[in-house]
Amino acid sequence: MRNGPVLPVLLALSIALNLYLLATRGAPPPEPPPPIPDAAPAGTTADAAPPAATPDAAPPPASAKDGWRSFRAPVEHSIARTFAPLGDDGPALAAVYARLFVWDLDMQRDVLKGDEVEVVWRPTADANYDIAVARYRSGKLGRTLEAFKYHRPGDDWPSWWRADGTEVPHRLKDSPLEKYEQITSLLKDRPTHAGMDFKTPVGTPVHAPRDGRVTQTNWNRTYNGNGIELKLEDGLIAKFLHLDETKVKPGDRVKKGQVIGTTGNTGRSTAPHLHYQLERGSTIVDPLDYHGTTRRRLPEDAMPAFRAEVERLETLADE
Ligand SMILES: [Zn+2]
Repeated sequence: MRNGPVLPVLLALSIALNLYLLATRGAPPPEPPPPIPDAAPAGTTADAAPPAATPDAAPPPASAKDGWRSFRAPVEHSIARTFAPLGDDGPALAAVYARLFVWDLDMQRDVLKGDEVEVVWRPTADANYDIAVARYRSGKLGRTLEAFKYHRPGDDWPSWWRADGTEVPHRLKDSPLEKYEQITSLLKDRPTHAGMDFKTPVGTPVHAPRDGRVTQTNWNRTYNGNGIELKLEDGLIAKFLHLDETKVKPGDRVKKGQVIGTTGNTGRSTAPHLHYQLERGSTIVDPLDYHGTTRRRLPEDAMPAFRAEVERLETLADE
């Protein structure tokens, strides 16, 4: 047969190609997108929402474990290193855990030898982490910080509370969002991130924190998505990024509390959230400092149900 050798040659080529593909499979992924040029001064980026604890709104299941795992360990150099035994889950879970206690402790500087972490956690379907109980025994404070997940009646989402009924995460006074699921990034979390991120569904109303004037909208859309920039009456610049809708235009005057837009998932954002950023000249301002914060407390009539839930959660931690 004249074309007899064709088949073996094709076969050899196919094997060679497969070997080549196997050998190159470990090649590095393509470069990530460049940082946002205009959202912030040099060295800062407005980025996608980082991993967040994802509480589910469903009532607590009857089964005690329900996928919850507990981890307890003495602190090793840093929170991230301490969570290293959890392997691939470690880094992101460490970040979600640490954010619960930043209100009371500097989770980098104040982490001391002899401290101890304890967490009851589970992965969520969307590759995030949920925390039922978290404790941090702090040598610096001389006490143990704790957080229990609880869905306060009337709230849209669960939050984390101390055993005495005070909420663990603080809330901004005159917040741009009246409601949000949780804060997923604080200014002090990462030096490269210039704002505060709030995880919240698309369409959540965004309020002007002070009287001011709209200086620009929808600039640098590839990264910021739809955005609003306000110059507040005291000269501060406020930016609201990744919006769904902008309800104001440049030159508009806005009053404190006015709805200026709605949150979204536009631009370089991987999940619905609001990026809120404050600047005075070339200096980034921490919204916690500018706004001041409040800490909620459960009403007395909610305490019996809360105490029962804490007891249930304690059993998860004990196993
Ligand atoms: Zn952000």
